[in-house]
Amino acid sequence: MAPTNEQIAAPKKNVPTFSPKDVTVLFVLGGPGAGKGTQCANLVRDYHFTHLSAGDLLRAEQNREGSEFGNMIKEYIRDGKIVPMEVTVQLLENAMTDVMEKDKSGKGKFLVDGFPRQMDQALKFEETVCPSKFVLFFDCPEAEMQKRLLERGKTSGRSDDNAESIKKRFKTFVDTSMPVVDYFDGQGRVVKVVATKSPDEVYKETREKLEARLGKDF
Ligand code: UDP
Ligand code: MG
Repeated sequence: MAPTNEQIAAPKKNVPTFSPKDVTVLFVLGGPGAGKGTQCANLVRDYHFTHLSAGDLLRAEQNREGSEFGNMIKEYIRDGKIVPMEVTVQLLENAMTDVMEKDKSGKGKFLVDGFPRQMDQALKFEETVCPSKFVLFFDCPEAEMQKRLLERGKTSGRSDDNAESIKKRFKTFVDTSMPVVDYFDGQGRVVKVVATKSPDEVYKETREKLEARLGKDF
């Protein structure tokens, strides 16, 4: 059957929306519970990044009245699976566009937290939205992450902070997201921080490594 208009994909952009000359993007990765959100909040305070959490954007879209993706997102998140990349990449691009339109300087600094978690997302985002400078990777053993997530689950209200979902999220992380870290590592584009210690200690190492890589005024 011939495709209808809706089925025809938008023409592929051959230039990303934002230039890395104007827009700094750091991807922030690490297993579930590695402390990405906590450390991003510290970096926002001290270096004035805009923090965009892919998971938070997906949860907001899931709860948005009239969203055609709400139910799909809900199922994917509960099962610890990766939502089809078109949705997540578009949510991120929209959020970046909002910020760039409000700030007339034409410059931007973004922490893209919990993304890209699958190779196709990484390639698509860098091709169509903006190439990232590097990945900030929080490395934490599974036992420690599980402990943190179960603790967080007591109050987070998140549908995926329970033992069953956590197990699935760990599997997705190992099978699907670590290859993304390895891909960027192969290009010399990973800054790795040990994330086992206290939040303050992890943040200290984060600052030192980022300043070593980017200079003091990033
Ligand atoms: N998620 C996704 N694509 C992304 C980022 C997140 O599908 O690019 C989904 C996925 O189901 C993941 C969930 O959102 O398990 C929660 O992500 P979040 O980053 O909030 O969790 P974290 O790992 O930081 O605890
Ligand atoms: Mg998070």
